[in-house]
Amino acid sequence: MPDLIIKSMIVLFGCLIGSFLNVCIYRMPRSGKVTLDEFLKISGSKEHADKLWEDLINSGYIDEDGYVEKKFKKLRKKAEVAKFELTGSYEKSKKQVFKILDESCELSIDKPRRSFCPNCHKQVLWYDNVPLLSYLSLGGKCRFCKKPIPFRYFFVEFITASLLLVLYSFFGLSVQFFTYGVLTCALIVSTFVDFDFYIIPDEITLGGLVVGIILSLIFPQLHNVSTWSASLVQCLLGIFAGGGSIYLIGRFGEIIFKKESMGGGDVKFLAMIGSVLGWQMALLIFFLAPFFGAAVGIFAKLTKGAEIIPYGPYLSLATFLVILWGHNMLKFLFYF
Ligand SMILES: [Zn+2]
Repeated sequence: MPDLIIKSMIVLFGCLIGSFLNVCIYRMPRSGKVTLDEFLKISGSKEHADKLWEDLINSGYIDEDGYVEKKFKKLRKKAEVAKFELTGSYEKSKKQVFKILDESCELSIDKPRRSFCPNCHKQVLWYDNVPLLSYLSLGGKCRFCKKPIPFRYFFVEFITASLLLVLYSFFGLSVQFFTYGVLTCALIVSTFVDFDFYIIPDEITLGGLVVGIILSLIFPQLHNVSTWSASLVQCLLGIFAGGGSIYLIGRFGEIIFKKESMGGGDVKFLAMIGSVLGWQMALLIFFLAPFFGAAVGIFAKLTKGAEIIPYGPYLSLATFLVILWGHNMLKFLFYF
């Protein structure tokens, strides 16, 4: 098949996949479970978020693990929520809190089937759902309520197609291309979810871990070995190196700064990445990501006084660079 046709197909499918990733980014953090991190953003401090969390459990809206209780919906319908008084400074954010709970119990990846406008909740018409083009033809606004559609929707479709094209130019149509393509999709979803909610969904980290192990068993060439058993060893070493390095630095940070500095999501995330890329690359990512994270972290602290920054985006950026140039980086490091 001529190269140009393959590239066009990759762009076409890349846009469609990107469109699906947009759905994942919106729905994954809002499906059935809430996390403390989501409330951190609203309440501003760990203490307030902890108190809010306790209130929600005591009111019977969520269980200890953050699953939204079924009866929450019933209470919501009966408007009994008025009984639930949020204490102190977050009384004003009550609406936001219930919005998170509401959306959590109503969404999953395949429900509702059709996309909807997050603002007016009207269904998106099929001809307004064409990747890239619809956004441009609608001028970035909802057809009904005219509220701007976040540029992100366009950007995610664009970046998905672009990154898949880059992977193709590096790896051709190979096992590597497909595997790294899937991994890149996971990176994109994690990045945007982490920006919004300071979490990385378990569907991505734990689900991806299972996929990583299976792919390692089927395709030993991913780890540059020839048998499935050797591949499994590399895969497991990757999981431990990736997860272990973040876990240890997190514990270290806790001791130094006396507060949680690395989320469990990051541990699972780099473990998942390690399962596909092996221990050398996992460690390389571990050492590379802080350079991006620190630059942005200092900027966020200076401009917005932000105390916490999501770390997933920088792990993702480092991972993509390592997929492309990791072997060259290692060669370069060991040359000296
Ligand atoms: Zn709308």
